[in-house]
Amino acid sequence: MEVDTQFVKDVIELGGETLKKCYQCATCSVICPLSPEDAPFPRKEMIWAQWGLKDKLIKDGDIWLCHQCNDCSEYCPRGAKPGEVLGAIRAKVIQELAFPSFFAKILMKPAGIVVYFAIPIILTLLYLSIASPKIPEGEIVLGNFIPHQHVELAGFLVGGWALLVAAIGAYRFWTGINSTVSKVYEYKLGENAELEAVKASPRFIECLFWSVIDILKHSRFAECGTARYRYFAHFMIFWGFLVLGAATLGDIYYLYILGVEELALPITDPAKILGNIGAILLVAGSFWAIVARFRNEKVGYGTYFDWLFLGTIFAVGVTGVCIEALRYAGSVATYYMYLIHLILVFTLLAYAPYSKFAHLIYRTLAYTWAKSVGREPQQ
Ligand code: SF4
Ligand code: SF4
Repeated sequence: MEVDTQFVKDVIELGGETLKKCYQCATCSVICPLSPEDAPFPRKEMIWAQWGLKDKLIKDGDIWLCHQCNDCSEYCPRGAKPGEVLGAIRAKVIQELAFPSFFAKILMKPAGIVVYFAIPIILTLLYLSIASPKIPEGEIVLGNFIPHQHVELAGFLVGGWALLVAAIGAYRFWTGINSTVSKVYEYKLGENAELEAVKASPRFIECLFWSVIDILKHSRFAECGTARYRYFAHFMIFWGFLVLGAATLGDIYYLYILGVEELALPITDPAKILGNIGAILLVAGSFWAIVARFRNEKVGYGTYFDWLFLGTIFAVGVTGVCIEALRYAGSVATYYMYLIHLILVFTLLAYAPYSKFAHLIYRTLAYTWAKSVGREPQQ
């Protein structure tokens, strides 16, 4: 076993400052509604993190089965807040799996906020200086300011980059968790009437399918007790993104299939309706999560890593709603709001594999892995 003291310091810095209070009573593992009976979490993760066993934690699928409901933190007799420590471990693991990992380290530090905004602002200024768009007079038409095709192209490039980095992280994670020894085995009668261990079949596609269904329904999140709000807030944010994704597909259909030049759609248009529903879900869900963090002291305020992501989602939703309101009001401020919105969308998309967004990839894979090896929650 290799001990990495820097790993411990990093986990503490990322929000796991209560880590060393744990004295291994295992109350948390008994309380956790999502932990399996066999080698339950989060007790073992607490001691691995105390000892700096980075290698074990990077390859630990269990940390992604936790939804930070904080039931365990509520009952921990030492105030070690295992729910939050697990959150800090996940942030550290995102850093380690990301490519390049030094970039993730920069973005996760509060001082990294400069880089976080500097990159999209510089790129936007570069675009403005090259394309020299003018604020159009008369009716507010965003496509007359920045052509939608330019925005879509930038979206494809940034999205492509995010997907590539996400794929590298996913590959590292999947090979890591599959190299662990915590597999569940089935037994069959061998040739000499002896029991032989059979590695559980991976059944990847089937397990992935049921994992996606679980995630769409948020069935595991529904087990949350102490931080019940997380289920509703997360559900709204998650579905807000999905509905906005559907609205974007609608826009692409108009632009590239129907050949529509401008997307100033009427409020009754199906793509516009979807866009508005998505925006409402995003703003309401993120606002709920922000308020709940202040009001529910048992859950904790969260870390810089949490706040940056939550704040960005909220800002993206609010600026999106403002664009529409300003456009209907006929204000030229719509164009400036549009630029701010695009910068925020860039941060959400381009930094997805380095932010809390990466949970989506790792958690989906961890669910799939857990199903394939039979790691289901204890009854
Ligand atoms: S985190 Fe708390 S409840 Fe869990 S083993 Fe440590 S002291 Fe016990
Ligand atoms: S935060 Fe909730 S899901 Fe995570 S380990 Fe604690 S009790 Fe289990």
